[in-house]
Amino acid sequence: RRAVEAEVATLGEVAQASTTDEKPRPLQLVQIDLEKNKVRLNEEDLAVLEKSLENTGVEKVAIIAVMGAFRTGKSFLLDLMLRYLREKHPPKGYKNEDIPQECEVPDWVQERKVPDWAVNCGPNLLEGREGGSQDREGFVWRPGMEKCTEGIWVWSEVFVCKAGDEDVAVVLMDTQGAWDARMSKEQSATIFGLTTLLASRLIYNVSKQIQQDKIDNLLYFTDFAKAALRAMQRGTGSVSEPFQTLEFLVRDWPHYQENFNFKDARNMMKNHLDQYFNPKKSQDTKSVEALVDLFHDIDVWCLPHPSLKIESETWNGDLAVIEKQFWRYIDGYLDKIFDPAQLQAKQNLGNAITVSTFGTVLREFSSAFSD
Ligand code: GDP
Ligand code: MG
Repeated sequence: RRAVEAEVATLGEVAQASTTDEKPRPLQLVQIDLEKNKVRLNEEDLAVLEKSLENTGVEKVAIIAVMGAFRTGKSFLLDLMLRYLREKHPPKGYKNEDIPQECEVPDWVQERKVPDWAVNCGPNLLEGREGGSQDREGFVWRPGMEKCTEGIWVWSEVFVCKAGDEDVAVVLMDTQGAWDARMSKEQSATIFGLTTLLASRLIYNVSKQIQQDKIDNLLYFTDFAKAALRAMQRGTGSVSEPFQTLEFLVRDWPHYQENFNFKDARNMMKNHLDQYFNPKKSQDTKSVEALVDLFHDIDVWCLPHPSLKIESETWNGDLAVIEKQFWRYIDGYLDKIFDPAQLQAKQNLGNAITVSTFGTVLREFSSAFSD
């Protein structure tokens, strides 16, 4: 009888291990309980992520987080990131076993409509729409008005890339708050603040241009993040530049010009950032200085409009409608952020944030926000 019980127990363990080996899917790590005004961790989904992290066999972690207002194309961007990483850094057990040692620098100048890494992804992005793909998974994004991403989401697959010459486990994070009747400003600041603490690259997705109100929002929720950090580091004094890279990602960039070469474009992007972050030029030096003190690096990238066709209600997700210049800029962008020279492991914030401590640190951070 004992032997049978022992066997049943082993079978149980096997069954449990295989349930974490499920189909890739978005995991909701954190949600806000709107009634009780509390941060809620989703332990089940966190366990799935911890398992994926552990499976990489790597210790350092890099968290690429995209945040911003509702319907600014965040999930669309993350979906493309996912395709890029699957093609160039396929996770263990994925069909393509040939894991590249480092990110290649592809020839984006070539007149290709769709970059290599996007060709194999099939034409359709949307789930559950006519002509939409049912069999591939990606971040859920829909052209309707549904709100599918309030809170902090991550993708269950973790990718191993190089940061310098070290291996890092790359996690993609999608954070959305809504400064509307459903979520208060404070509730949004809580999930944005939590994301700021966790991210090694914080991508602030904005439409058309960086504006003062966007910077004000940023300062509002970095204050929350700082307060949570202080609560956890009682007595150890304040850390200067506690956060890593802040990047403004400007969508539907209005200054895009057809005759731009990449260098012109990059200079233009830098000028755009300078208008806000060069204290000599800026109107509001106080907020600029505050952000410069908080983040180790402040960066910018601009993407042209993908195509007017994608704004139509009848678009079925066919990527063929996307303009050549969008591919060129996104290809250059992804090559840049996943370049081993640019990619950075998450640095310690008093607490070491690594593959093995991620869960514990997230629990600690979120309880600091609940106080
Ligand atoms: P999210 O709410 O920020 O995650 O936005 P989604 O990625 O779900 O996209 C919302 C809508 O914007 C979808 O209908 C997309 O087709 C569209 N969209 C995605 N990327 C862009 C972009 O770069 N520019 C514009 N104008 N629309 C976009
Ligand atoms: Mg979304």
